[in-house]
Amino acid sequence: MIITLKKQAPPEEVERVISGIEKKGLSVTVIEGANYNVFGVVGDTTILDEKLIAANPYVDNVQRIAAPYKKANRLFHPADSVIHVAGVPVGGQEDLVVIGGPCSVESKEGLFTIAKAVKEAGADMLRGGAYKPRTSPYAFQGQGTAGLQWMAEAREQLGLPIVSEMMSIDKLEEFNEYVDLIQVGARNMQNFDLLKALGTIRKPVLLKRGLANTIEEWIMAAEYIMAGGNDQVILCERGIRTFEKYTRNTLDLSVIPIIKQKTHLPIIIDPSHATGDWRLVESMSLAAIAAGADGLILEVHDCPECAWSDGAQSLKPERFQEVIEKGRAIAKVVGRGM
Ligand code: PEP
Ligand code: MN
Repeated sequence: MIITLKKQAPPEEVERVISGIEKKGLSVTVIEGANYNVFGVVGDTTILDEKLIAANPYVDNVQRIAAPYKKANRLFHPADSVIHVAGVPVGGQEDLVVIGGPCSVESKEGLFTIAKAVKEAGADMLRGGAYKPRTSPYAFQGQGTAGLQWMAEAREQLGLPIVSEMMSIDKLEEFNEYVDLIQVGARNMQNFDLLKALGTIRKPVLLKRGLANTIEEWIMAAEYIMAGGNDQVILCERGIRTFEKYTRNTLDLSVIPIIKQKTHLPIIIDPSHATGDWRLVESMSLAAIAAGADGLILEVHDCPECAWSDGAQSLKPERFQEVIEKGRAIAKVVGRGM
């Protein structure tokens, strides 16, 4: 971290800034210039709050050199992390994973129909929301515990690990019991209490990027979970809000190489929520694979027009299978299996 102080800063003020930093176990090197004094701070600067340092009226500028995250940082963990979800490896040079299933678990029978179809098409995991973050309080809110139990039954019958979204801390035990990969939805990416709670368990977490969050905020959300001791985090880009109305969100594919550069965590792509339109899902899936994603999460429904949520972006099972087949060809080009 580089701190620039105004030349007219009184010596006791300078001393106060330096000793405050040194007390935290960091060391400070001074370069005296004609108009400014520049202080180089060396050590674990993640514990420093640059805004607080900049609040001093004699401080002209504070520049962070190192990223504010440690556990997720590629710098301190050069090798790719491979996260095992009930035996299925995600990340590194492992085969790409495909997660398929309905947006919401509607009924046991309906879930089993879709689950069997996604398994047959070649999915590695089954998705299905039992607690749904809906924009309208009058929209279907999910089947709750029963939905999770049906998901768990589908896992037992088909041998597919299950993915579902947890919205509140009071469901931690339930999710820890039933779910193999706990999803934090876009709307909860900065629900810090939820992230802290997920840090206390030892189960993989699928952390979606917030609707309007920067990459650094997203990595810091992963850091919250990891700081608690749970380092099994898989990131998921699901599109961000932009001025564009043609698509539900804008799929930011550039995050794939950026996340790979900044962190060692796996990243998967959700073209269903990113586009909001099943017609765009195949091309965005193939593009994500070409860009280096570690997997895809896709909404699938046997009758999209009857779906209780997100039907417009849901693929029919046969189209889902086509995406997997074409995806395998692209994966091969980038040196991965699928
Ligand atoms: C979902 O996966 O169904 C969902 C609600 O996702 P997101 O949080 O990305 O909107
Ligand atoms: Mn959905």
